[in-house]
Amino acid sequence: MSLNNWTADRKLAERIRSSVTAGNVFHAYIIEGDTCVDKAAFAKDMLKAIMCRENPGMGCDECIDCRKIAHDNYEDLYFLESDGLSVKDEAVFQLQEKLKLKPSGGSRNLAVIKDADTMTVRAQNRLLKTLEEPTPGTVIILLSENRDNLLETIRSRCVAYRLNSLETDLNQLQMEGASVIVEAVMEGENFHRMKELLGRYMKSRDDAFQLLDGMERIYRDFLVGKDLRGRLMKRENIFRHIELIEEARRDLVMKVNYNYAMKNLIIKIGG
Ligand SMILES: [Zn+2]
Repeated sequence: MSLNNWTADRKLAERIRSSVTAGNVFHAYIIEGDTCVDKAAFAKDMLKAIMCRENPGMGCDECIDCRKIAHDNYEDLYFLESDGLSVKDEAVFQLQEKLKLKPSGGSRNLAVIKDADTMTVRAQNRLLKTLEEPTPGTVIILLSENRDNLLETIRSRCVAYRLNSLETDLNQLQMEGASVIVEAVMEGENFHRMKELLGRYMKSRDDAFQLLDGMERIYRDFLVGKDLRGRLMKRENIFRHIELIEEARRDLVMKVNYNYAMKNLIIKIGG
């Protein structure tokens, strides 16, 4: 894969291509996108575009740099992820030590922080030092489901990109589930019935994320008039439901039990 393949994000890929070829590579980026979007894959394709000498700004997917990045064995590329709960201060400290080393292969040290949303405040404040005074050539990419989870001081030092999600990225079953659940909320179905519906469409945390993404998409379609059922709801309620969905997503990111998070959402939306 190279940036070229991200058809839903063609405009973004083009922006990245032109800034890389113009020599404007920034030292920190936030890549934001729904759970169902493979942000890590996008980050790697972006790094290929930055490092590739065969097809700069896009990545050729064939040269040694592109292949090493694709297979996670590029010497100067470091990944950081949550230990199950959060990305902690100590982990960021260790990353910083690595970023101080002279890049062994190329000209740049690269880092991808997965689950950046779960960085503790201490971890974020530590990272801030690197973002304020990066070693020249360093590129750090933060992957986020919602950049509002990051401190303003972090956000203001990063270039942020939002990835689109293709309709087909959402699992069909969960998309149907999301529609059925939104419908049931509009019908004022009781909690017992809602629980039954959740049970039918949700067997895992991933399903819960997908349901939330699906529901949020439906409400956004309501707002822009793409889905005519939206006429039956007050706009302020649509906004409120979207907020509650985002709250539930934050709960899931924070590893709250998914059954609990979703039931909680249903109670609030129904009330
Ligand atoms: Zn290449």
